[in-house]
Amino acid sequence: MALIVQKYGGTSVGSIDRIQNVARRVAKWRKAGNDVIVVVSAMSGETNRLIELAHSISAHPDPRELDVVASTGEQVTIGLLSMALMELGTRARSYTGGQIRLLTDSTHTKARILKIDEQRIRADLKGGSIVVVAGFQGVDEHGNITTLGRGGSDTSGVALAAALKADECQIFTDVDGVYTTDPRIVPEARRLHKITFEEMLEMAGLGSKVLQIRAVEFAGKYQVRLRVLSSLTEPDIAIDDEAHSGTLITFEEDAQMEDALVSGIAFNRDEAKVSVMGVPDKPGIAFSILDPIAKANIEVDVIVQNIGSEGTTDFSFTVHRNDLARTMDILDKVRKEIGAREVTGDDKICKLGLVGVGMRSHVGVASKMFQALAGEGINIQMVSTSEIKITVVIDEKYMELAVRTLHKAFGLDEEVQAAASD
Ligand code: ADP
Ligand code: ASP
Ligand code: MG
Repeated sequence: MALIVQKYGGTSVGSIDRIQNVARRVAKWRKAGNDVIVVVSAMSGETNRLIELAHSISAHPDPRELDVVASTGEQVTIGLLSMALMELGTRARSYTGGQIRLLTDSTHTKARILKIDEQRIRADLKGGSIVVVAGFQGVDEHGNITTLGRGGSDTSGVALAAALKADECQIFTDVDGVYTTDPRIVPEARRLHKITFEEMLEMAGLGSKVLQIRAVEFAGKYQVRLRVLSSLTEPDIAIDDEAHSGTLITFEEDAQMEDALVSGIAFNRDEAKVSVMGVPDKPGIAFSILDPIAKANIEVDVIVQNIGSEGTTDFSFTVHRNDLARTMDILDKVRKEIGAREVTGDDKICKLGLVGVGMRSHVGVASKMFQALAGEGINIQMVSTSEIKITVVIDEKYMELAVRTLHKAFGLDEEVQAAASD
Protein backbone atom coordinates (compact mmCIF):
# COMPACT_ATOMS: atom_id res chain seq x y z
CA MET A 1 0.00 0.00 0.00
CA ALA A 2 1.32 3.40 -0.97
CA LEU A 3 0.65 6.94 0.13
CA ILE A 4 -0.11 9.05 -2.91
CA VAL A 5 -0.73 12.80 -3.16
CA GLN A 6 -2.75 13.76 -6.24
CA LYS A 7 -3.11 17.39 -7.29
CA TYR A 8 -5.80 18.46 -9.76
CA GLY A 9 -5.59 21.86 -11.46
CA GLY A 10 -8.32 24.30 -12.48
CA THR A 11 -9.29 22.74 -15.80
CA SER A 12 -9.38 19.31 -14.20
CA VAL A 13 -12.08 20.50 -11.77
CA GLY A 14 -13.58 23.06 -14.17
CA SER A 15 -17.11 21.62 -14.25
CA ILE A 16 -19.33 19.28 -12.25
CA ASP A 17 -18.68 16.50 -14.79
CA ARG A 18 -14.95 16.96 -14.42
CA ILE A 19 -15.17 16.96 -10.61
CA GLN A 20 -17.12 13.69 -10.82
CA ASN A 21 -14.43 12.28 -13.10
CA VAL A 22 -11.75 13.32 -10.61
CA ALA A 23 -13.75 11.56 -7.89
CA ARG A 24 -13.85 8.36 -9.96
CA ARG A 25 -10.10 8.52 -10.55
CA VAL A 26 -9.33 9.19 -6.89
CA ALA A 27 -11.72 6.48 -5.67
CA LYS A 28 -10.06 4.01 -8.05
CA TRP A 29 -6.64 4.67 -6.42
CA ARG A 30 -8.17 4.38 -2.94
CA LYS A 31 -9.99 1.15 -3.74
CA ALA A 32 -6.71 -0.32 -4.98
CA GLY A 33 -5.51 -0.01 -1.38
CA ASN A 34 -3.62 3.29 -1.42
CA ASP A 35 -3.88 6.12 1.06
CA VAL A 36 -4.78 9.18 -0.96
CA ILE A 37 -4.50 12.89 -0.25
CA VAL A 38 -6.01 15.10 -2.93
CA VAL A 39 -5.11 18.75 -3.44
CA VAL A 40 -7.38 20.79 -5.66
CA SER A 41 -7.30 24.18 -7.35
CA ALA A 42 -10.29 26.44 -7.85
CA MET A 43 -12.46 25.79 -10.93
CA SER A 44 -10.73 27.23 -14.02
CA GLY A 45 -11.17 30.99 -14.35
CA GLU A 46 -12.43 31.32 -10.80
CA THR A 47 -9.27 32.77 -9.22
CA ASN A 48 -9.06 35.34 -12.03
CA ARG A 49 -12.69 36.24 -11.43
CA LEU A 50 -12.10 36.69 -7.71
CA ILE A 51 -9.03 38.86 -8.25
CA GLU A 52 -10.98 40.99 -10.76
CA LEU A 53 -13.74 41.46 -8.20
CA ALA A 54 -11.18 42.77 -5.74
CA HIS A 55 -9.75 45.14 -8.36
CA SER A 56 -13.19 46.44 -9.19
CA ILE A 57 -13.40 47.73 -5.62
CA SER A 58 -9.85 48.98 -5.27
CA ALA A 59 -7.03 49.76 -7.72
CA HIS A 60 -4.56 48.47 -5.12
CA PRO A 61 -6.43 45.94 -2.98
CA ASP A 62 -5.08 45.41 0.49
CA PRO A 63 -2.96 42.22 0.18
CA ARG A 64 -4.43 40.63 3.31
CA GLU A 65 -7.97 41.15 2.09
CA LEU A 66 -7.03 40.10 -1.45
CA ASP A 67 -5.90 36.75 -0.04
CA VAL A 68 -9.17 36.40 1.87
CA VAL A 69 -11.03 36.76 -1.44
CA ALA A 70 -8.65 34.91 -3.81
CA SER A 71 -8.43 31.83 -1.60
CA THR A 72 -12.17 31.12 -1.63
CA GLY A 73 -12.26 29.33 -5.01
CA GLU A 74 -10.47 26.33 -3.54
CA GLN A 75 -12.91 26.06 -0.64
CA VAL A 76 -15.70 25.39 -3.14
CA THR A 77 -13.85 22.64 -4.98
CA ILE A 78 -12.73 20.73 -1.85
CA GLY A 79 -16.33 20.54 -0.65
CA LEU A 80 -17.73 19.54 -4.04
CA LEU A 81 -15.06 16.89 -4.59
CA SER A 82 -15.59 15.42 -1.12
CA MET A 83 -19.33 15.14 -1.79
CA ALA A 84 -18.66 13.51 -5.17
CA LEU A 85 -16.35 11.01 -3.45
CA MET A 86 -19.03 10.20 -0.86
CA GLU A 87 -21.54 9.65 -3.66
CA LEU A 88 -19.20 6.92 -4.89
CA GLY A 89 -19.30 5.27 -1.49
CA THR A 90 -15.81 6.32 -0.35
CA ARG A 91 -15.05 8.24 2.82
CA ALA A 92 -13.74 11.74 2.32
CA ARG A 93 -13.01 14.84 4.38
CA SER A 94 -12.15 18.28 3.11
CA TYR A 95 -9.81 20.79 4.74
CA THR A 96 -8.84 24.37 4.07
CA GLY A 97 -5.20 25.36 4.49
CA GLY A 98 -6.01 26.92 7.86
CA GLN A 99 -7.70 23.78 9.14
CA ILE A 100 -4.60 21.66 8.61
CA ARG A 101 -2.41 24.51 9.85
CA LEU A 102 -0.49 24.81 6.64
CA LEU A 103 1.73 27.48 8.10
CA THR A 104 3.28 30.12 5.84
CA ASP A 105 5.16 33.35 6.28
CA SER A 106 3.12 36.56 6.13
CA THR A 107 4.01 37.62 2.57
CA HIS A 108 0.45 37.95 1.32
CA THR A 109 -0.18 36.87 -2.31
CA LYS A 110 3.16 35.03 -2.49
CA ALA A 111 3.63 33.39 0.86
CA ARG A 112 6.13 30.61 1.48
CA ILE A 113 5.19 27.39 3.24
CA LEU A 114 6.99 26.87 6.56
CA LYS A 115 5.31 23.87 8.18
CA ILE A 116 2.34 21.54 7.89
CA ASP A 117 0.51 19.86 10.77
CA GLU A 118 0.18 16.30 9.53
CA GLN A 119 -1.55 14.84 12.61
CA ARG A 120 -5.09 15.45 11.47
CA ILE A 121 -4.40 14.16 7.99
CA ARG A 122 -2.72 11.02 9.30
CA ALA A 123 -5.65 10.32 11.63
CA ASP A 124 -8.14 10.62 8.77
CA LEU A 125 -6.07 8.41 6.50
CA LYS A 126 -5.89 5.83 9.26
CA GLY A 127 -9.66 6.00 9.57
CA GLY A 128 -9.97 5.13 5.89
CA SER A 129 -10.81 8.57 4.54
CA ILE A 130 -9.54 10.29 1.45
CA VAL A 131 -8.26 13.68 2.57
CA VAL A 132 -9.11 16.58 0.27
CA VAL A 133 -7.04 19.73 0.82
CA ALA A 134 -7.50 23.21 -0.65
CA GLY A 135 -4.44 24.17 -2.71
CA PHE A 136 -2.92 27.65 -3.00
CA GLN A 137 -3.66 28.69 0.58
CA GLY A 138 -2.28 28.64 4.10
CA VAL A 139 -2.27 30.69 7.30
CA ASP A 140 0.45 32.72 8.92
CA GLU A 141 1.40 32.51 12.58
CA HIS A 142 -1.31 35.06 13.45
CA GLY A 143 -4.03 33.05 11.70
CA ASN A 144 -4.25 35.35 8.66
CA ILE A 145 -5.18 33.62 5.41
CA THR A 146 -2.33 33.68 2.89
CA THR A 147 -1.97 32.51 -0.73
CA LEU A 148 1.08 31.01 -2.38
CA GLY A 149 1.25 32.87 -5.70
CA ARG A 150 -0.48 31.99 -8.96
CA GLY A 151 -0.21 28.31 -9.76
CA GLY A 152 0.48 27.68 -6.06
CA SER A 153 -1.61 24.54 -5.73
CA ASP A 154 1.28 22.62 -7.28
CA THR A 155 3.38 23.73 -4.32
CA SER A 156 0.66 22.75 -1.84
CA GLY A 157 0.64 19.28 -3.38
CA VAL A 158 4.39 18.81 -3.27
CA ALA A 159 4.67 20.28 0.23
CA LEU A 160 2.06 17.83 1.53
CA ALA A 161 3.85 14.98 -0.20
CA ALA A 162 7.10 16.07 1.47
CA ALA A 163 5.54 16.52 4.92
CA LEU A 164 3.83 13.12 4.85
CA LYS A 165 6.70 11.37 3.03
CA ALA A 166 4.36 10.24 0.27
CA ASP A 167 5.55 7.64 -2.20
CA GLU A 168 4.65 9.89 -5.12
CA CYS A 169 3.11 13.27 -5.87
CA GLN A 170 1.02 13.15 -9.03
CA ILE A 171 0.23 16.47 -10.69
CA PHE A 172 -2.86 15.88 -12.83
CA THR A 173 -3.42 18.58 -15.43
CA ASP A 174 -4.88 19.33 -18.87
CA VAL A 175 -1.84 18.03 -20.77
CA ASP A 176 -0.50 14.51 -20.49
CA GLY A 177 2.95 15.46 -19.25
CA VAL A 178 5.83 17.86 -19.65
CA TYR A 179 6.51 18.63 -23.31
CA THR A 180 9.59 19.85 -25.14
CA THR A 181 7.81 23.21 -25.16
CA ASP A 182 4.28 24.51 -24.56
CA PRO A 183 2.15 22.35 -26.89
CA ARG A 184 -0.28 25.25 -27.25
CA ILE A 185 2.38 27.24 -29.09
CA VAL A 186 4.13 24.42 -30.94
CA PRO A 187 1.77 21.61 -31.93
CA GLU A 188 4.80 19.45 -32.86
CA ALA A 189 6.05 19.52 -29.26
CA ARG A 190 6.69 16.05 -27.86
CA ARG A 191 5.99 14.69 -24.43
CA LEU A 192 9.08 13.82 -22.43
CA HIS A 193 8.90 10.51 -20.60
CA LYS A 194 11.36 11.82 -18.05
CA ILE A 195 12.98 15.15 -17.33
CA THR A 196 15.71 15.76 -14.80
CA PHE A 197 14.88 17.75 -11.73
CA GLU A 198 17.44 20.42 -12.68
CA GLU A 199 15.96 20.83 -16.15
CA MET A 200 12.45 21.08 -14.75
CA LEU A 201 13.65 23.73 -12.34
CA GLU A 202 15.06 25.80 -15.20
CA MET A 203 11.94 25.31 -17.36
CA ALA A 204 9.68 26.40 -14.50
CA GLY A 205 12.00 29.31 -13.73
CA LEU A 206 11.71 30.49 -17.31
CA GLY A 207 7.94 30.54 -17.01
CA SER A 208 6.78 27.13 -18.19
CA LYS A 209 3.42 27.05 -16.47
CA VAL A 210 3.08 23.30 -16.21
CA LEU A 211 4.69 23.33 -12.73
CA GLN A 212 5.10 26.26 -10.35
CA ILE A 213 8.80 26.79 -9.65
CA ARG A 214 8.37 26.56 -5.90
CA ALA A 215 6.81 23.13 -6.32
CA VAL A 216 9.92 21.97 -8.16
CA GLU A 217 12.18 23.53 -5.53
CA PHE A 218 10.28 21.70 -2.78
CA ALA A 219 10.46 18.43 -4.68
CA GLY A 220 14.21 18.90 -5.01
CA LYS A 221 14.78 19.80 -1.40
CA TYR A 222 12.76 16.91 0.00
CA GLN A 223 13.41 14.39 -2.81
CA VAL A 224 9.73 14.03 -3.62
CA ARG A 225 8.99 11.69 -6.47
CA LEU A 226 7.00 13.88 -8.85
CA ARG A 227 4.98 13.00 -11.94
CA VAL A 228 2.91 15.17 -14.30
CA LEU A 229 0.00 13.39 -15.97
CA SER A 230 -3.37 13.92 -17.61
CA SER A 231 -6.67 14.27 -15.78
CA LEU A 232 -8.56 14.18 -19.05
CA THR A 233 -8.18 10.48 -19.85
CA GLU A 234 -10.89 7.93 -19.08
CA PRO A 235 -10.97 7.92 -15.24
CA ASP A 236 -11.27 4.14 -15.03
CA ILE A 237 -8.10 3.34 -16.99
CA ALA A 238 -5.99 0.63 -15.38
CA ILE A 239 -3.93 1.88 -12.45
CA ASP A 240 -0.79 0.20 -13.75
CA ASP A 241 -1.05 2.11 -17.02
CA GLU A 242 -1.83 5.38 -15.28
CA ALA A 243 1.01 4.91 -12.79
CA HIS A 244 3.52 4.82 -15.66
CA SER A 245 2.00 7.54 -17.80
CA GLY A 246 2.94 11.20 -18.11
CA THR A 247 6.36 12.60 -17.26
CA LEU A 248 8.50 11.62 -14.30
CA ILE A 249 10.71 14.32 -12.82
CA THR A 250 13.81 12.36 -11.99
CA PHE A 251 16.92 12.97 -9.95
CA GLU A 252 19.06 10.70 -12.09
CA GLU A 253 20.89 12.56 -14.75
CA ASP A 254 21.48 9.51 -16.91
CA ALA A 255 17.73 9.48 -17.31
CA GLN A 256 18.32 12.10 -19.93
CA MET A 257 17.67 9.30 -22.32
CA GLU A 258 17.37 11.00 -25.60
CA ASP A 259 20.97 12.11 -25.85
CA ALA A 260 19.75 15.55 -26.79
CA LEU A 261 21.66 18.79 -26.46
CA VAL A 262 18.48 20.55 -25.56
CA SER A 263 15.57 18.96 -23.71
CA GLY A 264 13.11 21.81 -23.77
CA ILE A 265 12.31 25.43 -24.57
CA ALA A 266 10.46 27.73 -22.20
CA PHE A 267 9.43 31.34 -22.53
CA ASN A 268 7.38 34.07 -20.96
CA ARG A 269 5.99 37.47 -21.71
CA ASP A 270 5.80 38.54 -18.07
CA GLU A 271 8.99 40.55 -17.99
CA ALA A 272 10.07 44.05 -18.96
CA LYS A 273 13.49 45.48 -19.73
CA VAL A 274 14.85 48.65 -18.20
CA SER A 275 18.02 50.42 -19.28
CA VAL A 276 20.04 53.13 -17.60
CA MET A 277 21.98 54.84 -20.38
CA GLY A 278 25.10 56.95 -20.25
CA VAL A 279 26.17 55.85 -16.79
CA PRO A 280 29.63 57.11 -15.67
CA ASP A 281 31.78 53.98 -15.90
CA LYS A 282 33.30 53.55 -12.46
CA PRO A 283 33.30 50.97 -9.65
CA GLY A 284 30.15 50.77 -7.55
CA ILE A 285 27.74 51.84 -10.25
CA ALA A 286 25.98 48.46 -10.60
CA PHE A 287 25.47 48.45 -6.85
CA SER A 288 24.08 52.01 -6.85
CA ILE A 289 21.53 50.99 -9.48
CA LEU A 290 20.50 47.59 -8.16
CA ASP A 291 20.60 48.15 -4.41
CA PRO A 292 17.50 50.41 -4.26
CA ILE A 293 15.69 47.93 -6.52
CA ALA A 294 16.50 45.04 -4.19
CA LYS A 295 15.48 47.12 -1.17
CA ALA A 296 12.08 47.64 -2.81
CA ASN A 297 11.77 43.83 -2.98
CA ILE A 298 11.81 43.80 -6.78
CA GLU A 299 13.29 40.70 -8.35
CA VAL A 300 15.84 41.28 -11.09
CA ASP A 301 16.69 38.71 -13.71
CA VAL A 302 18.90 39.03 -16.80
CA ILE A 303 21.53 41.76 -16.32
CA VAL A 304 23.70 43.19 -19.09
CA GLN A 305 26.26 45.97 -18.95
CA ASN A 306 27.67 47.31 -22.22
CA ILE A 307 31.02 48.99 -22.34
CA GLY A 308 30.17 52.38 -23.80
CA SER A 309 32.35 55.08 -25.25
CA GLU A 310 33.73 58.20 -23.57
CA GLY A 311 33.85 56.72 -20.11
CA THR A 312 30.16 55.85 -19.93
CA THR A 313 28.29 52.57 -19.96
CA ASP A 314 24.71 51.36 -20.52
CA PHE A 315 23.22 49.09 -17.86
CA SER A 316 20.11 46.96 -18.56
CA PHE A 317 18.14 44.36 -16.62
CA THR A 318 14.75 42.69 -16.60
CA VAL A 319 12.03 42.81 -13.94
CA HIS A 320 8.48 41.46 -13.77
CA ARG A 321 6.10 43.62 -15.81
CA ASN A 322 4.04 44.33 -12.73
CA ASP A 323 7.13 45.91 -11.18
CA LEU A 324 8.05 48.08 -14.18
CA ALA A 325 6.35 51.30 -13.03
CA ARG A 326 7.89 51.08 -9.56
CA THR A 327 11.30 50.29 -11.04
CA MET A 328 11.12 53.32 -13.34
CA ASP A 329 10.24 55.58 -10.41
CA ILE A 330 13.20 54.33 -8.41
CA LEU A 331 15.59 54.63 -11.35
CA ASP A 332 14.50 58.15 -12.03
CA LYS A 333 15.89 59.14 -8.64
CA VAL A 334 19.00 56.98 -9.10
CA ARG A 335 19.66 58.59 -12.49
CA LYS A 336 19.96 62.02 -10.93
CA GLU A 337 22.18 60.76 -8.13
CA ILE A 338 24.67 58.97 -10.37
CA GLY A 339 24.53 61.42 -13.26
CA ALA A 340 23.27 58.98 -15.90
CA ARG A 341 21.86 60.33 -19.17
CA GLU A 342 18.47 58.60 -19.36
CA VAL A 343 16.34 55.67 -18.22
CA THR A 344 14.15 53.68 -20.62
CA GLY A 345 11.60 50.90 -20.01
CA ASP A 346 10.27 48.37 -22.50
CA ASP A 347 7.50 45.91 -21.68
CA LYS A 348 7.24 44.51 -25.22
CA ILE A 349 9.86 41.87 -24.69
CA CYS A 350 9.88 38.12 -24.29
CA LYS A 351 12.37 35.96 -22.43
CA LEU A 352 13.09 32.62 -23.97
CA GLY A 353 15.44 29.88 -22.91
CA LEU A 354 16.86 26.57 -24.07
CA VAL A 355 17.32 24.03 -21.31
CA GLY A 356 19.21 20.74 -21.32
CA VAL A 357 21.70 18.85 -19.19
CA GLY A 358 23.18 17.75 -22.54
CA MET A 359 24.65 21.26 -22.94
CA ARG A 360 27.13 20.54 -20.20
CA SER A 361 29.20 18.31 -22.38
CA HIS A 362 28.74 20.13 -25.67
CA VAL A 363 29.94 23.42 -27.03
CA GLY A 364 28.28 25.40 -29.78
CA VAL A 365 24.71 25.35 -28.47
CA ALA A 366 24.65 29.13 -28.12
CA SER A 367 26.05 29.77 -31.59
CA LYS A 368 23.54 27.35 -33.10
CA MET A 369 20.78 29.19 -31.25
CA PHE A 370 21.98 32.61 -32.43
CA GLN A 371 22.35 31.37 -35.99
CA ALA A 372 18.79 30.01 -36.04
CA LEU A 373 17.39 33.28 -34.68
CA ALA A 374 19.46 35.36 -37.11
CA GLY A 375 18.13 33.23 -39.97
CA GLU A 376 14.68 34.56 -39.14
CA GLY A 377 15.89 38.14 -38.70
CA ILE A 378 15.24 38.06 -34.95
CA ASN A 379 17.41 40.48 -33.01
CA ILE A 380 18.78 39.39 -29.64
CA GLN A 381 18.64 42.16 -27.04
CA MET A 382 20.16 40.37 -24.05
CA VAL A 383 21.80 37.01 -23.35
CA SER A 384 22.56 35.09 -20.22
CA THR A 385 23.86 31.58 -19.77
CA SER A 386 24.26 28.96 -17.11
CA GLU A 387 25.58 25.43 -17.29
CA ILE A 388 22.34 23.95 -18.59
CA LYS A 389 20.47 26.99 -19.91
CA ILE A 390 20.82 29.77 -22.48
CA THR A 391 18.40 32.65 -22.15
CA VAL A 392 17.77 35.44 -24.64
CA VAL A 393 15.54 38.50 -24.52
CA ILE A 394 13.87 39.39 -27.82
CA ASP A 395 11.02 41.57 -29.08
CA GLU A 396 7.79 39.89 -27.97
CA LYS A 397 6.33 40.00 -31.46
CA TYR A 398 8.80 37.30 -32.51
CA MET A 399 8.08 34.99 -29.60
CA GLU A 400 6.14 32.27 -31.40
CA LEU A 401 8.38 32.37 -34.46
CA ALA A 402 11.48 32.09 -32.26
CA VAL A 403 10.11 29.15 -30.27
CA ARG A 404 9.07 27.26 -33.40
CA THR A 405 12.37 27.98 -35.15
CA LEU A 406 14.46 26.78 -32.22
CA HIS A 407 12.25 23.75 -31.65
CA LYS A 408 13.00 22.69 -35.20
CA ALA A 409 16.66 23.74 -35.22
CA PHE A 410 17.41 21.53 -32.21
CA GLY A 411 15.45 18.60 -33.60
CA LEU A 412 12.92 18.64 -30.79
CA ASP A 413 10.00 17.85 -33.06
CA GLU A 414 11.64 14.74 -34.45
CA GLU A 415 10.31 11.42 -33.25
CA VAL A 416 12.83 9.74 -31.02
CA GLN A 417 12.95 6.19 -29.87
CA ALA A 418 10.51 6.14 -27.01
CA ALA A 419 12.52 5.34 -23.93
CA ALA A 420 10.94 2.95 -21.51
CA SER A 421 8.83 5.01 -19.19
CA ASP A 422 9.17 4.48 -15.52
P1 ADP B 1 -3.34 23.44 -13.99
O1 ADP B 1 -4.55 24.31 -13.99
O2 ADP B 1 -3.63 21.98 -14.09
O3 ADP B 1 -2.39 23.78 -12.88
P2 ADP B 1 -1.74 24.99 -15.85
O4 ADP B 1 -2.52 25.74 -16.86
O5 ADP B 1 -1.20 25.74 -14.69
O6 ADP B 1 -2.61 23.75 -15.38
O7 ADP B 1 -0.51 24.25 -16.54
C1 ADP B 1 -0.73 23.41 -17.66
C2 ADP B 1 -0.41 24.18 -18.94
O8 ADP B 1 0.98 24.45 -19.00
C3 ADP B 1 -0.69 23.41 -20.22
O9 ADP B 1 -2.04 23.52 -20.63
C4 ADP B 1 0.29 24.04 -21.20
O10 ADP B 1 -0.32 24.99 -22.06
C5 ADP B 1 1.29 24.80 -20.32
N1 ADP B 1 2.67 24.46 -20.60
C6 ADP B 1 3.67 25.37 -20.75
N2 ADP B 1 4.82 24.77 -21.02
C7 ADP B 1 4.57 23.44 -21.04
C8 ADP B 1 5.38 22.29 -21.27
N3 ADP B 1 6.69 22.38 -21.51
N4 ADP B 1 4.78 21.07 -21.20
C9 ADP B 1 3.46 20.95 -20.95
N5 ADP B 1 2.65 22.01 -20.74
C10 ADP B 1 3.19 23.24 -20.78
N1 ASP C 1 -6.25 28.75 -8.18
C1 ASP C 1 -4.91 29.29 -8.11
C2 ASP C 1 -4.54 30.01 -9.41
O1 ASP C 1 -5.37 30.08 -10.31
C3 ASP C 1 -3.89 28.25 -7.76
C4 ASP C 1 -3.68 27.16 -8.77
O2 ASP C 1 -4.54 26.95 -9.63
O3 ASP C 1 -2.66 26.48 -8.68
O4 ASP C 1 -3.46 30.51 -9.53
MG1 MG D 1 -1.01 25.34 -12.67
